[in-house]
Amino acid sequence: RCVANQYAHNFNAFITPLSRTGSWQDRVREADARREEGNPKSPVDGRLISIKDNICTRELPTTCASKILDKFTSPFNATVVDQLEAAGAIVAGKTNLDEFGMGSNSINSHFGPVRNPRRDSSGEDVSAGGSSGGSAASVAADQCFASIGTDTGGSVRLPAAYTGTVGFKPSYGLISRWGVVAYANSLDTVGIIGKTAGNVRDIFNILNLHDQRDPTSLSIPSRSRIQAAIESPQLASRLNSAPLRIGVPKEYNVSELTSSVRRAWALSLAHLKKQGHTVHSVSLPDTKHALSTYYVLGPAEASSNLAKFDGVRYGSRAEGPDGDGKPDGYLYSNTRGQGFGQEVKRRIVLGTFTLSAGEFDNYFIQAQRVRRLVQQDFNAVFAAKHPLEVEHTDKLIREHDVDVIICPTAPSSPSRLKDLMSKSADKSPLDPYVGDVFTVPASLAGLPAISVPVTVPGEEGAELAGIQVIGQYGDDQLVLKVGEMLE
Ligand code: GLN
Repeated sequence: RCVANQYAHNFNAFITPLSRTGSWQDRVREADARREEGNPKSPVDGRLISIKDNICTRELPTTCASKILDKFTSPFNATVVDQLEAAGAIVAGKTNLDEFGMGSNSINSHFGPVRNPRRDSSGEDVSAGGSSGGSAASVAADQCFASIGTDTGGSVRLPAAYTGTVGFKPSYGLISRWGVVAYANSLDTVGIIGKTAGNVRDIFNILNLHDQRDPTSLSIPSRSRIQAAIESPQLASRLNSAPLRIGVPKEYNVSELTSSVRRAWALSLAHLKKQGHTVHSVSLPDTKHALSTYYVLGPAEASSNLAKFDGVRYGSRAEGPDGDGKPDGYLYSNTRGQGFGQEVKRRIVLGTFTLSAGEFDNYFIQAQRVRRLVQQDFNAVFAAKHPLEVEHTDKLIREHDVDVIICPTAPSSPSRLKDLMSKSADKSPLDPYVGDVFTVPASLAGLPAISVPVTVPGEEGAELAGIQVIGQYGDDQLVLKVGEMLE
């Protein structure tokens, strides 16, 4: 049924859909048989899971939604793809995205924009969010069971919020990035989009393993330290039925919040209070600088990562003479000039500028400092201390602080596609960056965060908003649990 949907509805969610024929149908039947015998390989045995097209698959192309990679097929699978296939899951095609993950609306794609399966109240097409918009749309439209995306600054959570799905970004370093095309290494995470927090947790538990091929994968001893902390008597009760302390950051109450987002936030807090949890105002003073910090660090790392797409090492080589001295005769500039889209070029220029000798201290180093302050803000409000920064002799928990933070995923509902795509003089290419204001802080701090859909009654029928739960580093299971409580 899922595959039929891929063809019936053209949301442009897929760059490479699953083929209509082929051995995957046999694999579904085999998995059904195993399930009937009570012996499935895993909770996703025989399930179709779509993969964002910046994650390498051996059998299908990996384009990153870029012209420069339109002919690229990886000789290997990303670790996450191998892990899912070993658990019996079936790759359900490659999903559309903003080129190389750069964007918030999935309109910066060489293959055209993704359409959100949910339209606005006047029936207009709206953004599916980005950059994992194809992943989120494929789940929202029942074209697959779940999807694997990437989240560098919100790219799994924002599309989840816009499409009414659940999007989870785990703590940095838990899921392998081997075979995931890098955007900004120090921020990149693999994230999961599903219909429920329970489905997302099942997939997270399969992928949450050390991978020696990924140098940023959290080591086994560090994983043991996290496990010991969350299982300690001081922290374990939070995962059972103990009342939780919920933090509401006062700095997140920005004027740009629309009334439906505000109501969804209030409704979620009221719902948790009714279940016996308590709500507390907290302060994260440096988060107001998080967005600009992210947009210095992200492009800086990206400009370095994208240097390898030059038509020699990677990328489709541009036609024409090769460096014969004429301005249009250069292989490198022709390949990159024709192969990259506008937003990618903008970020390469920005990143190259902030990394240049004269500007490095002013921008990159300064942004690194602010990033540290954002991390410290979170550490100052979470009751659980950062499990990798705490001394063995210290208490793991402080009183009077909070277990999780709850805030909106995005300040407003998705914009209309036609407004986003129209060119007008009063529009700045920086406008969409504002949509990431609530997602980038957790990215800068490497924290686990989930977006769950919350429906609120509105004047023109029910309205939807994504509500985000953020936890301390390593508190992924708690974040998933609170996400489940909000469903
Ligand atoms: N919208 C953000 C950006 O454009 C986040 C993207 C992402 O998480 N991949 O950088």
